Amino acid sequence: MMGSVSELEPRVLVVEDDHGLRDVLARGLREHDVVVVTARDGAGALGAVRGAGPDAFDAVVLDIGLPDSDGRDVCQALRAAGLTAPVLFLTARDQLHDVLSGFAAGGDDYLAKPFHLSELVARLRVALRRSAAARPAPSGLALDPTTHALVGPSGTQRLTPTEFRVLAALMARSGEVVRRRDLLAAGWPDGARVADNTLDQYVARLRRKVDAAGDAGRSIGTAHGVGYTFT
Ligand code: CA
Repeated sequence: MMGSVSELEPRVLVVEDDHGLRDVLARGLREHDVVVVTARDGAGALGAVRGAGPDAFDAVVLDIGLPDSDGRDVCQALRAAGLTAPVLFLTARDQLHDVLSGFAAGGDDYLAKPFHLSELVARLRVALRRSAAARPAPSGLALDPTTHALVGPSGTQRLTPTEFRVLAALMARSGEVVRRRDLLAAGWPDGARVADNTLDQYVARLRRKVDAAGDAGRSIGTAHGVGYTFT
């Protein structure tokens, strides 16, 4: 017997499109006294978190290869929606690039398929122990990873995938100055070299879209020479 993941039955959201694996994970985790909620795609994951609230889950197990969206985009959208719980990515593509861009997207750990359930339980246990850092309250703006849209009280703004990633990185650390190099890593995860003012042009466009989406008081500020901040 391995015992439970933590003393208090943790609530874990499992996002996996493979029906068989999803079942195995859900049943296996429940045997370890985890309360499991499952979703089969990015829209389902976002729906679960928006429906239950960003504090409803103690951890998220998130497949990167989902049918409707990239798990990394889903992670960013969950972070932007206020999720602070640790996110553990599952991927069949165990390449360094996936791992690094997964962390840039707000993931906390990473498990390559195939893996043994006991390894997932051990990683979850560590992640739950580590997750204490509080993040600021979410705004009235939300990111939709399936359409790369910014949804606000005054309407929906279409974003390019790069705009989506840059804004998600800012929103995930709302109130903090996010350094230029972190925004470049988030926006261009393949490590493409971009001109120095490219990031500023993207942010200028995002600033207009954030204003148009219309959550009064929310805006992108500039920390000259350092980075940007979403407040
Ligand atoms: Ca998959």
